[in-house]
Amino acid sequence: MEVVNVVIPPLPSPYTYLLPERLAAHIQVGCEVEVPLGSRSVVGYVVPLPDGHEVSTKFELKPISRIRRVHPLFLKSQLEFFQWVADYYAESLSSVIETAIPPPVPQKFEHYLSLVAQDLTPDRKPGKVEQQILSVLQAQPEPISLRILAARIKGARPAVKRLVERGLVTMREQEILDQHLLSVEVPSWAKTEVTLSEAQQAALNEVRSAFTSGKYSPFLLDGVTGSGKTEVYIEAAREVVATGRSVLVIVPEIALTPQLIDRFRARLGTELAVLHSGLHPRVRWDGWRALLEGRCHIGIGARSAVFAPLHNLGLIIVDEEHDSSYKQQEGLRYHARDLALVRAKMNSCPVILGTATPSLETFSNVANKKYGYLRLSSRPGTTLPPTIEVVDLNHVKPWEMKSRSVSPKLYDALASTIAAGNQTFILYNRRGFASYLQCERCEEVVKCPNCSVTFTYHKNNHSLVCHYCGTHAVPPSTCRECESLSTKSSALPANLLQRGSGTERIYDELRELFPDVSMDRLDRDAVTDGDQYRRILDRMRSGETSVLVGTQMIAKGHDLPGVTLVGVVDCDVGLHMPDFRAAERVFQLLTQASGRSGRADKAGQVILQTRVPKHPSIVSTEAHDYRSFALAELETRKMLRYPPFSRMLRIVASSAEKSLGGATLEQFARELDDLRESHGIKCSVLGPCAAPIEKIKTLWRWHLLVKSSSPKEINFVVRTLQLRRKKSKQVRVIFDIDPQEML
Ligand code: ADP
Ligand code: ZN
Ligand code: ZN
Repeated sequence: MEVVNVVIPPLPSPYTYLLPERLAAHIQVGCEVEVPLGSRSVVGYVVPLPDGHEVSTKFELKPISRIRRVHPLFLKSQLEFFQWVADYYAESLSSVIETAIPPPVPQKFEHYLSLVAQDLTPDRKPGKVEQQILSVLQAQPEPISLRILAARIKGARPAVKRLVERGLVTMREQEILDQHLLSVEVPSWAKTEVTLSEAQQAALNEVRSAFTSGKYSPFLLDGVTGSGKTEVYIEAAREVVATGRSVLVIVPEIALTPQLIDRFRARLGTELAVLHSGLHPRVRWDGWRALLEGRCHIGIGARSAVFAPLHNLGLIIVDEEHDSSYKQQEGLRYHARDLALVRAKMNSCPVILGTATPSLETFSNVANKKYGYLRLSSRPGTTLPPTIEVVDLNHVKPWEMKSRSVSPKLYDALASTIAAGNQTFILYNRRGFASYLQCERCEEVVKCPNCSVTFTYHKNNHSLVCHYCGTHAVPPSTCRECESLSTKSSALPANLLQRGSGTERIYDELRELFPDVSMDRLDRDAVTDGDQYRRILDRMRSGETSVLVGTQMIAKGHDLPGVTLVGVVDCDVGLHMPDFRAAERVFQLLTQASGRSGRADKAGQVILQTRVPKHPSIVSTEAHDYRSFALAELETRKMLRYPPFSRMLRIVASSAEKSLGGATLEQFARELDDLRESHGIKCSVLGPCAAPIEKIKTLWRWHLLVKSSSPKEINFVVRTLQLRRKKSKQVRVIFDIDPQEML
């Protein structure tokens, strides 16, 4: 009997099973099967046997019990990629497969009936119900669904069964699929045709010749928001699909970019398979299957789409490549942009990384000539970049402020924008109302009981929310420390001061300043699904909303032509985080946000409020000077040997016991010293020390940073520490390779 290998999550290595003859014809790589494991029956996925595999005779092999569905869940051609991912991130193939495939949903079938022949002389007179069914079928040339028939005629199911048995009627079973693939109507604003500008054409030409050459060719497509990058994506995709190859489009957060999907649909007039975890599982699964079965040639989705089962991949597009949400922060901690490059290499095809603010990693790859450089230097038409003004809040007296957070300059700009009938984005990159509550008498700050962070006060529903673990709490009626009492139970105690701010509070302030103006809010509290997001943006597009207040969500790639003013209430949010990428992130956010202002015929204006006007992130944003920012920042990184000048590994150990994580990491540091001696490892080690957020979800956290010049060395370090580590239930250890998160 033949044998097959089966990966059984979460077990790390595959197991070998016998393949019974009755199943042999149906089995293929990627099939979901049921196999016995000990005394249990478990689910696994068929993978190829390694070359030169010898069946061990030590154990008696058991047979596969059953194939759970006839079609595979992934393609054989994907396995090389899956294995690469597993090796690079020091994870098992099984955890990669689990991360890659969407949760399978049960298959649904519909039964269709048709008449065998028109003029039958039945051997027996059909019963009343049977007669009814026959006449329905006679009247209708197309097969009819049993479900619909049964809804119309009582007792139809047993009657149909009899008719089928007597050979008068045939029944065909068909799987129900794709009910949602094209269900969204293409909106009227989506352009159906454009003529590319010279710069766009030049970029397209480069991608085309790279594609024709059949070589791995990474490109940075550098263009400010609105410079027409998406049009280049669409045209490149069109050409690649026309040659019969497929295209993968990855975006930072798909719930935030329904417009992009609409534009691809409007222009290409073909189906797109949309893949992301926010979709209904059925819809997501249908999209996955459409790609798997080659019914669809363009896959579009967020981070996890990098694993999509595309046949004959010919082009990958990573939009907003700098976005840190491309890094998965739990489980398999992969970076979708990095993996897109790996996949493109395996498929010998071009990959386009688009952005106005390249990550420093990408910027230095361009500088080192590893990536091609495509540039769209201006917006189509005559639009100029927006004028950017910085308001130094140190020089505005408190009594001059129009409200807590609105300076006279921002106020005047808002007033004239509103008067001119134009629209405004107001960015404040923190949600909620007050960032924390503090007792006026004893200065005690109200904290989440599970984490070492303050509770954020949300006024809308009068609740305290921890933005790290999601704990909700009712605001206290007394200060726990000094027991100052509240007078009214529904309000906050008078001594609990609302410190800091959030989008809710900014919204309230603006409402008071401009009571007759229609305003809306866009942040993770206002938006819980893609539809809500679409509605908020649609109200903006139709002009119904005049001022939109929001977090970084408003800075993400939308194309809203009516916005002529962008106000950043506090540029300094996030600037002083203990993270070597803090300055880069703030620069990106400010530049992206600024890019929302002004389109086509309307000049844009940007107002940045800050207390550190000399900070490079702010100076460079004001000067529209990405290059100077990048070069200066790279200089610092080089000095400190931070990425892109090194590879990094962050090890986080957490435990309910305060010191245990630290002790584990001390042990790791000693092992690393050992490895330096015994294996000539050259990595440098920072820490261990308590993580900047010391406690999350009741666990105390410690971290250790490792910098090395080679990814191989990092990989070796992880594998060795994993092996040498004394297993302990009390300490949870995470190895984060190429970390994006330092808190
Ligand atoms: P980006 O992706 O760089 O943000 P978009 O591709 O969304 O830029 O382009 C911004 C706007 O300009 C869109 O409405 C787009 O349709 C339009 N546009 C881009 N290129 C052209 C062109 N060559 N001709 C006409 N309109 C264009
Ligand atoms: Zn918490
Ligand atoms: Zn107090």
